[in-house]
Amino acid sequence: MIKRDGHTHTHFCRHASGEETERFILKAIEQDFTMYSLTEHLPLPEKLLREIPYSQEWKDSLRILDDDFDGYIREMEKLKKKYKDRIQILVGAEIDYLPDHMEHTRTMLKEYGPYLEDALLSVHLIRGNGVWQAIDHTPEDFEKGLMRYYGSYEQIQLEYYRVIKEALKSELGPYKPNRIGHLTLCNKFQCRFNPKKEVAEDVKKSIIDILDYMARYNYSLDVNTAGLYKEYCGEIYPSPWIVDNAYKLGIQLVYGSDSHAVADVGRAYKVFEKIITQTHL
Ligand SMILES: [Zn+2]
Ligand SMILES: [Zn+2]
Repeated sequence: MIKRDGHTHTHFCRHASGEETERFILKAIEQDFTMYSLTEHLPLPEKLLREIPYSQEWKDSLRILDDDFDGYIREMEKLKKKYKDRIQILVGAEIDYLPDHMEHTRTMLKEYGPYLEDALLSVHLIRGNGVWQAIDHTPEDFEKGLMRYYGSYEQIQLEYYRVIKEALKSELGPYKPNRIGHLTLCNKFQCRFNPKKEVAEDVKKSIIDILDYMARYNYSLDVNTAGLYKEYCGEIYPSPWIVDNAYKLGIQLVYGSDSHAVADVGRAYKVFEKIITQTHL
């Protein structure tokens, strides 16, 4: 049986713990994972980093170590070889959908795509007050940059899913990722801004529309347990009802711990297993 973690970060990620990636891998082996995807963020365009309204410190944390994606691939390939008899490692990436920087992403994918064995397409930024705004920074930032701009939680969700749909339809060439990362990341602070976890009819409609599209074009879904550990989220990404619907549509579900520290590896795999078993009934 395959036990797979399809979404993890490495010591190249500056907002991760800094622990050596090898230790993440050993932890996965210890938990009997048979397949492990390394999905580090692609470096963001300089221009975007200049534009976003955050502290230099936080912007720096978005970069990968030395902005060195070559170094990342080289090092990860070595680990892949070293552990090949114990676990199948896929060297991959988590790729941001950035509508204003499509050329950057295309160029990166052209260069690195041939080396990527797995990849996720994720949305972390949407438009806010005339600038690009993170959807997952802090509740205060969410309030100031998004709630005030969009006027309601529902409008933010609608915009987030609109961008996801756009990402799905975008032209990124032959190396475009075929799995969508943390589809409901816009709910990271839901306990603060939508405590009853209400899903408005039009939001539900746009999510179903996304799932239909994913099923039609063979996208798989990152069932990401990180949300369970976020103070204001309290559930997996995407919400369980969405995972159920995805399953019914035949979309492949891939567990993702989104590990940023050794302690995160494999977390809540049981929750994933339970959902999968229930949806199979
Ligand atoms: Zn992400
Ligand atoms: Zn991630």
